[in-house]
Amino acid sequence: MPIKAENIKYIYSEGTPFRTLALDNVNIKIDQGEFVGIIGHTGSGKSTLIQLFNGLESATEGRVEVDGILVGEDKKKLKLIRQTVGLVFQYPEYQLFEETVAKDVAFGPLNLDLSQEEIDVRVKEALELVGFNYNKIKDASPFELSGGQKRRVAIAGVLAMKPNYLILDEPTAGLDPAGRNEIFHQIKKLHERSNVTVILVSHSMEDIAKLVDRVIVLYKGKVHMQGTPKEIYSEADELERIGLGIPQIASIVRELRNRGFNIKQGILTIEEAKEEILKEVKRRNV
Ligand code: ADP
Ligand code: MG
Repeated sequence: MPIKAENIKYIYSEGTPFRTLALDNVNIKIDQGEFVGIIGHTGSGKSTLIQLFNGLESATEGRVEVDGILVGEDKKKLKLIRQTVGLVFQYPEYQLFEETVAKDVAFGPLNLDLSQEEIDVRVKEALELVGFNYNKIKDASPFELSGGQKRRVAIAGVLAMKPNYLILDEPTAGLDPAGRNEIFHQIKKLHERSNVTVILVSHSMEDIAKLVDRVIVLYKGKVHMQGTPKEIYSEADELERIGLGIPQIASIVRELRNRGFNIKQGILTIEEAKEEILKEVKRRNV
């Protein structure tokens, strides 16, 4: 069953001079098992949107449905929705506070009426899902870990709630390139190994398009485009117009096309570009 957002409008500070229309008639459907990227630059409404998905905020207009439950209708169901939709905020490591990694990951499940045995199993599984060796990491202090490792512990804490959906808001913000790669690699593996639906929120097209199956572009609070990364990248001019970058290789290919090279659209990788350019060079030589 999906997450569905229908005709969503979200207004901050209504009735004041600071009124902001953060989301404007947004319609989105995300199916179980998908790996989706929500992309848009700062202020486009990404964080507002995902907080509606787990009932942290409620829309000014429109409806959000999670696995058949209308969010916000029944306050008693909010707990279930928060558990179904796991949200990893920006800089989640600020919320780590226990003295060991295992205790930190157990924090959420402890509120779920589970046996100690079940909690231990969940903690172990969650830490392994984000690429840790459980025995090696469980007694470590979260504070002695690297930036990327801390973030993986925070993600494990959400996974231990066994959500159907895992939403990550700018999960690599502030990390160095090694930390970024580590996080992206683990998220990709996590999606492959579990059946959790992953929604990755980012302002960087270049980071996300390589990973996800579908991209939703938010622009000024509206869904501006959506499709596979290839479909989105074939609209390179439009992406640049709205200030979202395209990979360097895609802009080289576009330049070649503009100069009359017969190369297909939607190329994302250097390997693919090389193959296409060589084909064209051969065609020209005969
Ligand atoms: P993003 O996550 O894409 O950067 P946000 O959802 O945070 O976008 O913000 C969307 C719009 O709502 C922006 O114009 C932002 O300034 C505004 N906004 C976000 N949070 C608040 C808030 N708490 N109060 C008032 N305006 C807000
Ligand atoms: Mg944000």
